[in-house]
Amino acid sequence: MMQTALTMTQMIERAEKFFPKKQVVSRTASGIHKFTYKQITERMRRLASSLEKLGISKGERIGTLAWNHHRHLEAYFAIPCMGAVLHTINIRLSPQHISFIINHAEDQILLVDSDIVPLLEKCASELKTVKAYIIMTDEKELPKTTLSPVYHYENLLSEADPTFQYPNDIDENDPAGMCYTSATTGNPKGVVYSHRGILLHSMALGLADSAALSEKDIAMPVVPMFHANAWGMPFAAVWFGTSLVLPGPYFTPKLIAELIEQEQVTITAGVPTIWLGLLKELDEGSYDMSSLRGVLCGGSAAPKGLIKSYEQRHNIPFIHAYGMTETSPLVVISNLKSYQVGLDEEERLEIRAKQGILVPGLDIKVVGQNGEVQWDGKEMGELCIKGPWIASEYYHDERTKDAFRDGWLHTGDVVTIDEEGFVKIVDRTKDLIKSGGEWISSVDLENALMAHEAVFEAAVVAVPHEQWQERPIGCVVLKEAYKGKTSKEELLDFLKPQFAKWWIPNDIVFLDDIPKTSVGKFLKMSLRDQVQKDLLR
Ligand code: ADP
Repeated sequence: MMQTALTMTQMIERAEKFFPKKQVVSRTASGIHKFTYKQITERMRRLASSLEKLGISKGERIGTLAWNHHRHLEAYFAIPCMGAVLHTINIRLSPQHISFIINHAEDQILLVDSDIVPLLEKCASELKTVKAYIIMTDEKELPKTTLSPVYHYENLLSEADPTFQYPNDIDENDPAGMCYTSATTGNPKGVVYSHRGILLHSMALGLADSAALSEKDIAMPVVPMFHANAWGMPFAAVWFGTSLVLPGPYFTPKLIAELIEQEQVTITAGVPTIWLGLLKELDEGSYDMSSLRGVLCGGSAAPKGLIKSYEQRHNIPFIHAYGMTETSPLVVISNLKSYQVGLDEEERLEIRAKQGILVPGLDIKVVGQNGEVQWDGKEMGELCIKGPWIASEYYHDERTKDAFRDGWLHTGDVVTIDEEGFVKIVDRTKDLIKSGGEWISSVDLENALMAHEAVFEAAVVAVPHEQWQERPIGCVVLKEAYKGKTSKEELLDFLKPQFAKWWIPNDIVFLDDIPKTSVGKFLKMSLRDQVQKDLLR
């Protein structure tokens, strides 16, 4: 067989040649913009030419701090196809973590949305490698800023070469993208995606037994483009000539419903929090959702009730899937097998609420205390994954050796696997708290609480939350001398200046002691149960 390189340039060129009339609908601060792939792919060439003029060379990292819109999509392709590396930065991290990852990735240029400029200004004095900032906005909205030097995205593009030729010396294993994921303790960890990995993952999204993304779809990724590449949807969509709808900043359930109705969206993707919000909107309002053929849901477990409500009350197919930043992310997806379709409703729901079966191209195993577990849906073990779109290391990080062993990614997710191969996530070995699709480190909060003079011991656990899936609760043992004299409010106020607002625990419970394992680690499982009982009292 021929050895042709699986590089992203062919994805743009296919859209350019075969789908110039297809559309990208984008919502920005200034309203709805509609572009054809002809316009978008020309703008991609212009952006690549501008970056070259600014001195970017092969392998250098360019950061983006941006919402889901057409300019971000242009960066998604222009950067890797000119040979550089697209580093999408999670703007929900603390300024300290944002500075850390920009410095760790050694970003040369940052592309930033105008409403994120104030956040970036807070970090700017810490940034060691950034040579320029490009503000991604319409000229009339250009904000005043202390960032320097600053370029204006549209000005750069208007002066750039629309016929820029992408280099042809990119190897399929060259880095194309990069994303940092939160760690249980310490700084976020970097994952690097290769051109090859991105292409093969995109192909997997198109398989009929997976998300079946195709040219016929109008796809709307609601999951942020700074979070695991919006689950790879923008990459696959451009390659397949799928029309895209990008919902921009600060969307509400109402806005999502309106976009689906107006733009006739067929498939959308996001975390359970988003779909819980939309469900309420659909229950209360009157919208035509008949264009939707699927709502993809991942990032946290989709509750059975949520799946049932979408399907029964609104006739919208709801597809549960699982993955992580390290896995591009798609690993398993919950579609019924042909012979399961005739099962009764409860049984079907039971299966569909599991995270699903493996997509073709990957390999998984579940390892318990005595080796690989039985496929009986009962025995638990850690999910391990390998395959061509699974990371093989963390970028310049010694924590690589903890997660990547013997050719497998050890996910830290505790699962069961049933006779049919359906994986169910039962717990996490890592004790991060997942709120609205974003991570909160329990360990960071614990360390901060334990730095308070009144605190003897502190553990932070997640409790289920209707809107955010999980929220942190602080469990505190006070020092004898402070018992009865230190209030919850005092401890919460102590945390507030140290963390992003949404990290602050919903409550603090005072305990006499914290249950521990034999090796003295907090026994978070039983602590969680205890806290839930206390809160219900
Ligand atoms: P993302 O949230 O984009 O999937 P992250 O890397 O932030 O990626 O989070 C990955 C982790 O999220 C997984 O290791 C797992 O603990 C959890 N997760 C992802 N999808 C699901 C799901 N469908 N059900 C339960 N947990 C999930």
